[in-house]
Amino acid sequence: MAGQTKQWEPGTIVHDPRTGRVGEYRGQAGPYAMLRPVGGGREWEADPALIRPATPEERLGAGVRAANARSAQATARRRVFRYVPYVIVQDATAEPEYEARCVSGDEADCGAGSGPRPHPAEVEEWQRLHTQDTRHTRYRRHFADYAVLEPAEPVGATLPPTVVTGPPPGQGQHPGAPQPS
Ligand SMILES: [Zn+2]
Repeated sequence: MAGQTKQWEPGTIVHDPRTGRVGEYRGQAGPYAMLRPVGGGREWEADPALIRPATPEERLGAGVRAANARSAQATARRRVFRYVPYVIVQDATAEPEYEARCVSGDEADCGAGSGPRPHPAEVEEWQRLHTQDTRHTRYRRHFADYAVLEPAEPVGATLPPTVVTGPPPGQGQHPGAPQPS
């Protein structure tokens, strides 16, 4: 280590060429100059003969990095403690499917099915025809659609999240519910 070491005012922002880092000079500790990252963090030991006051550009860079680190920390906290509200909506690009399968039969279900249809009325028509042909009267009905989650509000909005599920708009009742005849 060089014999002649400069003393800096504590708080001086210095550049440490060994690590390439910019830090705040805290004082001497034995043969070392103790430096602390700008904005806080773990101190490190530097050779007091090598460090020099940071240039304005270096000081600015260290300050910006410290601000970025604080901002990243705040973002991480938001990720933990806040959640982005979503609404669940029916996927308009995929048609809902209605389907009925005949479950009549004593030993085993008949098993005949309408296949997926885009509208419940088609399923009911298939049921009437099947019953007319076979006298089978019991069916299991399915409804399926695709749902997607969309951000509910711009980030920062204060409204509570609203979750919407269920049949498509305009279907007030169960999709396959009997219709008045
Ligand atoms: Zn049947």
